[in-house]
Amino acid sequence: MKPQLEDTEFWVGTFHGSHDGTTATVTATRDDTRPEPYVWTCTCGASRSFPTEHGVWPTAWRHTHPTRFDRLRSWAARRFRTAR
Ligand SMILES: [Zn+2]
Repeated sequence: MKPQLEDTEFWVGTFHGSHDGTTATVTATRDDTRPEPYVWTCTCGASRSFPTEHGVWPTAWRHTHPTRFDRLRSWAARRFRTAR
């Protein structure tokens, strides 16, 4: 499926994987009109934005290919963030 892009958006990459027992697809785009041009969004609704392309690949990859340790760490990070 081709992602819907705004006029200012450029397709950067798509990552196929799974998490939480379901398939997940992350689409990364670049839009220079955004404060952080690089953004990826997952079919699960998660999204992250980055000032450079460097942050996109490892995080999108890890999001679609989580290890048990990653799940534990993201759970811990969520708790830590909401606690502040
Ligand atoms: Zn996801």
